Amino acid sequence: MSVIRVRRWVAVLVMMVFLLAGMAFWIPWPALGGWTLEKEALAQGMPALQKDGVLVIYPPGHEEEASWVLEGVLQYVDPVFTLLHARRPDHIRVMVAADQEELRHDLGTSEAPLGAYWQDTLWILAPSSWPGGPVDRERFLAEGPIAHELGHMALHRRVGEKVPVWLDEGVAQWVDEKVTGFLWLEGWPRLEEGEGFSYQDLSRWQVDDLAVAYLQSYLLAAEIARSHGGEGLALLLDRLEKGHAVNQSLRTVLGDGYPGLVAGDAWQAPLLSP
Ligand SMILES: [Zn+2]
Repeated sequence: MSVIRVRRWVAVLVMMVFLLAGMAFWIPWPALGGWTLEKEALAQGMPALQKDGVLVIYPPGHEEEASWVLEGVLQYVDPVFTLLHARRPDHIRVMVAADQEELRHDLGTSEAPLGAYWQDTLWILAPSSWPGGPVDRERFLAEGPIAHELGHMALHRRVGEKVPVWLDEGVAQWVDEKVTGFLWLEGWPRLEEGEGFSYQDLSRWQVDDLAVAYLQSYLLAAEIARSHGGEGLALLLDRLEKGHAVNQSLRTVLGDGYPGLVAGDAWQAPLLSP
């Protein structure tokens, strides 16, 4: 090959690299938000802990709590992803918020939960800032949000982001209960008194009592999981992963139980005890 032809090939290659780099900006990559946050936080000099593919970025002065967060993620990630048959990502990013105000600011919400899964990132409120008062390592690991938020992450990685809220929260709680034994039971007495929402209300997430709605979501997920000899949730996720609609998939998985579910019967008076 002549020198000129080699130069031409180099020019074509350089052009292709530029084209590919340009295309990258057009690809809607869901992880971009969290990745940008991570780069910004590290560039600003926020401290971080890292082990076995888990990165915990935390506010200065919260190193001990960050070590509990890292411990929790490393402890729960494999059981959670195994339960949902999801592939664990090579890199898991966790941001620790010093207090509720910081978490509200970071998430852009009016409420500050104990944890959140947003922009491909886990957000965890520092255990010293829990609304009811600081909690120690044991309570944080047993009742904290890590397994729950990992449940959201695993579910979204399997079936995408377009999951109804009840299914998202139901599966996250089901996973948490299986892995840590923790279940949020605050709504139980009201549910027993018949204050439950219908399936239609849950589907539209038109709920004014989160404790009851979350518990019903859990009960629904547990009912699905229990069906087909314990394979019901796996069957549902398989169908959702293939792009089938939620209601059509539920009809297939629940069979004879589906009309009762849609009528709201089971959820006015739950049949299961958690
Ligand atoms: Zn949740």
